[in-house]
Amino acid sequence: MTIVTSFYVTSWQEAKTLKTEIRLKPGRDKPLRQRHPWVFSGAIAEGSAEPGGLVNVVDKTGAFLGKGTYNPHSQIRVRIMSWDQDEQVDAEWWAQRLEGAIQRRRHISESHQTNAARLVHAESDGLPGLIVDQYDDILVMQALTLGVEQAKSTIVDALVQLLNPRSIYERSDADARQKEGLAYRTGLLYGEEVPKLVMIAEANMVYPVDIVKGHKTGFYLDQRAARAGLIWNPNIQGGEILNAFSYSGSLGICAASNQAAHITHIDSSEPALELARQAIAANSQTEEQHTFVAADVFEQFRHYRDQGRQYDVVILDPPKFAHSARQVERAARGYKDINLLAFQLLRPGGILYTFSCSGQVSADLFQKIVFGASVDAERDAQIMEWFDQPADHPVLLSFPEGRYLKGLACRVVPF
Ligand code: SAH
Repeated sequence: MTIVTSFYVTSWQEAKTLKTEIRLKPGRDKPLRQRHPWVFSGAIAEGSAEPGGLVNVVDKTGAFLGKGTYNPHSQIRVRIMSWDQDEQVDAEWWAQRLEGAIQRRRHISESHQTNAARLVHAESDGLPGLIVDQYDDILVMQALTLGVEQAKSTIVDALVQLLNPRSIYERSDADARQKEGLAYRTGLLYGEEVPKLVMIAEANMVYPVDIVKGHKTGFYLDQRAARAGLIWNPNIQGGEILNAFSYSGSLGICAASNQAAHITHIDSSEPALELARQAIAANSQTEEQHTFVAADVFEQFRHYRDQGRQYDVVILDPPKFAHSARQVERAARGYKDINLLAFQLLRPGGILYTFSCSGQVSADLFQKIVFGASVDAERDAQIMEWFDQPADHPVLLSFPEGRYLKGLACRVVPF
């Protein structure tokens, strides 16, 4: 049934019986007392455990704070799995946490008319390092920490029990793995081979998803609110749209279904644009309504500016520019440049849909960057709408790091 290697099972079972303990330095217990689930290497006074094994974390007096999985190869040495000293982090624990996460999303399929959602959003669902996305009857999981890597077969068994999926596919090829000292792993974990494309539905639209080769786990589930905004905003109708960083085109395809006159999709990835072509056909839209440009957005925008081109709507959904706190300044310059060019390409009354998925760039900072871009472009603009990650990508109050996506819809006004 499942692909279970005895190594994982053995080391997970062994880890449960370890008696080791991590003692924190004086004054370093406050984040844990406030239920922040990370213990950084610099906060540890003494102690260690088996790599990937469970360990109790205690304060300087020996008082219990939490228990979590240990990774000596990560700056985040312990990820807290439980705040209860008596709780066993065993197969039943995984099943219960997974069931809770799934139950909390029960409303999403109906309210968004969809068969695709994020079922587990890692730390924010009390499951540090684990992502599970659902695409119809196929689950895609990412194990982003050593602890999750070692519990993988337990997780797969629990997901099979809870959801009876057709397949579970692993896409543990995210950057976060490197910080944990883990190699990328992808492949089938359970069930049938996954089809080349899985069709998902959302709000009267359909999207082909490439689970094996697509970005992330195959689709940008987190942009559901923006897709809805583009489907229903009457200002889109009749407009010329520039869909920059389009990936498989979904934002532009939503605009097209809202009677936009024409959409130009720009992405540096040819396979992404090919997927967009298939998405257009799947939604019975004609290729005449769409143009595909395989290019660097920065260069292409300069080119359009120099040609004096103007658009009614510009959508900017770039990849993450800041991967660490040190990269925030450089990322801010990138966001400023691209938003400045976007403002220059907008007609009076035009709308900029602009996003950032850099967790290190706060919503407040992002708004300031967009403001700076409007000043340099000499455009007055009003924010019509704020975007955030949707309910299946929740943010735990004690873990603000879980928030990463933010966006604005800004209209250029003639003041
Ligand atoms: N808007 C998309 C998601 C975009 S993800 C959606 O809703 O599905 C970011 C995209 O930017 C990726 O498809 C990536 O291939 C593309 N990309 C990254 N850097 C780029 C660049 N400099 N120029 C053009 N495309 C780029």
